[in-house]
This record gives sequence, C-alpha cells and structure tokens, in this order.
Amino acid sequence: MSASSSLLDKGSASVSAVILPGATLGVMGGGQLGRMFVHAAQRLGYFTAVLDPDPFSPAGRVSHHHIHFGYSDAQGLAQLALLCAAVTTEFENVPASALQTLAATLPVAPGAAAVAIAQDRIQEKSHFTASAGVAGVTCAPHAVIKTREQLHAVPADLLPGILKTARMGYDGKGQVRVRNAAELAKAWSELECVPCVLEKLLPLKAECSVIVARGWDGETVSFAPQRNVHVDGILAVTEAFDGALSPALAERAQAAACAIAQHIEYVGVLCVEFFVIDDGSEHGALVVNEMAPRPHNSGHYTIDACDVSQFDLQVHAMTGLPLPKPRQHSPAIMLNLLGDVWFDAAGNSRTPDWAAVLALPGSHLHLYGKTEARRGRKMGHLTLTGVDVASVKATARQAAEILDLPGFEGAE
Ligand code: ATP
Ligand code: MG
Repeated sequence: MSASSSLLDKGSASVSAVILPGATLGVMGGGQLGRMFVHAAQRLGYFTAVLDPDPFSPAGRVSHHHIHFGYSDAQGLAQLALLCAAVTTEFENVPASALQTLAATLPVAPGAAAVAIAQDRIQEKSHFTASAGVAGVTCAPHAVIKTREQLHAVPADLLPGILKTARMGYDGKGQVRVRNAAELAKAWSELECVPCVLEKLLPLKAECSVIVARGWDGETVSFAPQRNVHVDGILAVTEAFDGALSPALAERAQAAACAIAQHIEYVGVLCVEFFVIDDGSEHGALVVNEMAPRPHNSGHYTIDACDVSQFDLQVHAMTGLPLPKPRQHSPAIMLNLLGDVWFDAAGNSRTPDWAAVLALPGSHLHLYGKTEARRGRKMGHLTLTGVDVASVKATARQAAEILDLPGFEGAE
C-alpha cells in the first residue's frame, strides 16, 4: 500500500506499514482537543497515551495511559515513545524540539517544522504569502516589529491596527488594538517589546475557517468552510450549512487552505482561519489570518454533523489509514460553552439547565470534564443539528436563551 512506503519515505524509522487498530497512539497535550482525539482513536480500537503534566487534564482522564510530565521532559518523552506507534499534538505551543526528539524514533504528525511555523506569526505570514497566493488569497497588510527602528518605521496606513505578539497568542490574548503611533509605542512596551506583528484593522464582514487533513502520501481532504462568530476575541458560534458563506468565497478558502497544507507537506489535521473583508464587492474578499496545526474549535460540529469528524481524520492521517472525503449530513450550529455559563448575572455560581438543553431536538452536548469553571475558559460546546437550516437556527436560538449565551445574533 502506498501509505506504508510514504511513511518510510518521510524518514519515520520505526514504521513500515499502516498503523492498525490495536496499536497505541499518543497525543501531546491533555486539553479538550486531546480528549476528543482520544475518544475518536478509542472508538476505532486504538489504545491511547496522553502527555500532560496536569493529573486532571480532560484527555488524561479518559486515556488508557496518562504520562504526567512536562512537554520537554526527556523521561516523559521517552515513556511516550516507548508506548506509542505514532504521536500527534493537540496544541500548537508544544515545543517543536520535543516533536523532533520523538520523530527520531516514531512517526509524528504534524511534524516539528510545520508546528514551528504555526507558533510564530511572522513565519506563518511568510508561509501564507508563499502558498495561499496561488489561490488569490493574501494576508492582512502588516509590519514586523522586533526593534525600536521597526517600531518607528511603521507606515501610517497600518493604523488603526492590532499589535499581536509573534508567539504564544490565543483567544485574543497577546493582542492590543492601537489607534495611532503613540498608542502603538505604549502597547509594544506593555508587551515587553517582544517580537510582534502590527496588522491593519480590517473591516470584517465575516470570519470563516477551513479544516484540511493531509496524509503521509499527500492525499488531501477538507471540510467545507464554516462561518465563525467571535465575542471578545474568543470563538462563540460556528455555523456550518450551505449559504453561511458565498459559494465562490467558500471554494477559494478551501483551495487556499489545501495549498497552505501542501506547501509544507503537512501531515495531520490543519485549520486555516480567514477573514472576509468588505472591499465594496457583493461578497467581500478573503484574507488569511492564521493556522492551527491540529483540529480546531470551529470544527467540533463535524463530530455530530458529518460522517467523519476532524478527530477521526486526525487518527487516519497519523496512522496512514485512507482519508475518506468527509460528507456533512446535517446543517449545524455550534455554540461554545465558556465558564461564564456557570455564573448568573449577579456573579453567583450555578449549574446550567442541561436537562432543558438536552430536551431540544438535535442537541449534542459535549462537556470536557474540567473541574473548575472560570470566565472565558472553554468548558464544553453544544452542537445543534436538524433537517434544515431554519430548524437548526430555531433550536440554537432556544439553547442560547436557556444558557444565556452571547454571539448568537451572528446566526441570523
Ligand atoms: P485564536 O484563539 O484563534 O488562536 P488569536 O488570539 O490567535 O486567536 P487572532 O485569530 O489573530 O487571535 O484574532 C482574534 C480575533 O480578533 C479574530 O478572530 C478577529 O475577530 C479579530 N481580529 C484579528 N485580527 C484582526 C484584523 N487585522 N482586523 C480586524 N479584526 C481582527
Ligand atoms: Mg484566531
């Protein structure tokens, strides 16, 4: 089979064939994405191992093996390598050097080089310029700020803008909106003068993302783009149904995402986020924002609304199994459940009315088993599916009302 020879071609020394169910698969990181990966792998008959120092990590608690070490700890990595036939990651800030260490003895997907690009907005933007351009998609106008000279040389037309740290940003953290040069200088010093990117503030009509899976042999499949609504920099709602985006934009986003994966010979599941900006045209223009070298929050609906989920494809890609083209069988809306849902307006803690939510037709509740609810913390998500878009919107509206969720206006 071609997949097995490709595994060898990539220099993944210990594998000479497709890794079949019964083997143990490892994941770096024990958060909710790791947990949903573990669920998918176990359903297929794999054993799982999670590397995460937190004894209460959501994935660690449901995995056959949980290795309680830091991500760079040689002992932890050695244990993982000993147990596993292949390893993947669930968060992009895993040290690339740890993935490199593992890759010396077993297949690691995605590889260290791809993860290193996704960890750094500056490298990521160069990669997008080199790859997404083939699909006619560009990055937001931006400037790299690593030195005081670069700070002072920022072109005036990038303001107002958003100053983003090059590394370690997520859920809107490490970002400051700036209106003018004085605010920019202040923001950069508040960010401790670390390498940053200043992006022009764009007039967003919408946001969307594409999830791609690519195998060792280069076979690539993708989900149709889903539309995302953020509240305070955090994903609140994902809409996945025909008509959420214009077909021409959707096709271009999918082509750009595949080109981005292809260009670095990515192996695994990759999410590419896009902005749809108002350029005066009817549907707007696409701008590529960033990529995540793993399944993504905006793809959680695939578990309940598609015949193969982003986590299934993560398992398939890393093991060299074939990558079936996913088919969405139901329109879907995903509502993120942040810790805020566990507090009432007066700030008192409460238990959300799960019984009422679960009484709704096509309601799929996913709670990640986190012990403590904190505001802004991703605790779970709710996917609503139905026979048509109108009914899905109606049940999503009811769920949002029961749980008092923000951001649902975006689904109108
Ligand atoms: P994530 O959780 O997706 O990793 P992040 O912290 O890496 O988030 P971005 O995706 O860069 O941050 O930005 C978060 C949100 O801020 C975007 O989804 C978008 O709503 C808004 N935003 C970011 N950049 C711009 C821009 N250049 N113009 C307008 N809005 C922007
Ligand atoms: Mg983002």
